Amino acid sequence: MKNIMFIAPPAAGKGTQAELVVEKYGIPHISTGDILREISKEDSEIGKYVQETLASGKLVKDDITYQLVEDRLGKKDCKNGFIIDGFPRNIDQAYEYDKILKNLGYDIGHVIYINVDKKVLEKRITGRRICEDCNTIYNINDKDNSPEIESVCDNCGGKLYQRSDDNLEAFDTRYQMYMEKTEPIIKHYREQNVLVEIDGNDTVENIFKKIDKIINE
Ligand SMILES: [Zn+2]
Repeated sequence: MKNIMFIAPPAAGKGTQAELVVEKYGIPHISTGDILREISKEDSEIGKYVQETLASGKLVKDDITYQLVEDRLGKKDCKNGFIIDGFPRNIDQAYEYDKILKNLGYDIGHVIYINVDKKVLEKRITGRRICEDCNTIYNINDKDNSPEIESVCDNCGGKLYQRSDDNLEAFDTRYQMYMEKTEPIIKHYREQNVLVEIDGNDTVENIFKKIDKIINE
């Protein structure tokens, strides 16, 4: 089993695909968010620092994040492959990630770029509706995923709402930021011939089939 990194724009369904891979292959899903939350519970100097930094809404220092990622990836459960999520977020972190892998004697593995057209993402974002009672997520722009009655949950009859940041303006900002930070990462891994691009303008099942094929090649 090779290590896996997903690169995908916001709302591309990266999290769902990671879950499907974890379910099928049983490899750990490593995210920097989880690492930081875990460490913040520890009664140590670094645990205290992370806890205070997160609580104040600031960013944990890069050096500390790198060290924590390296420590986590060095654990036994990662020796047979893992999915890294939410890291690297920019090209500097990508260089640092390469170093971490080298230190641990790991290969980069598969860098899977799920490419989705911006128009498709916009439809997903603006169509998303969530049940305020049971949290089921619908999409009124997707006939396979829309509720029978537009503002009512099929499961429980609860009222559906739209998240305040699920609008075109907020999405545009997120998307611009993603492009700026991510394009250099894509270029970097493409140059090393480890990047596989897949067409993400597709259903969850079909995207997973493509990912599964790459994993099994
Ligand atoms: Zn509901």
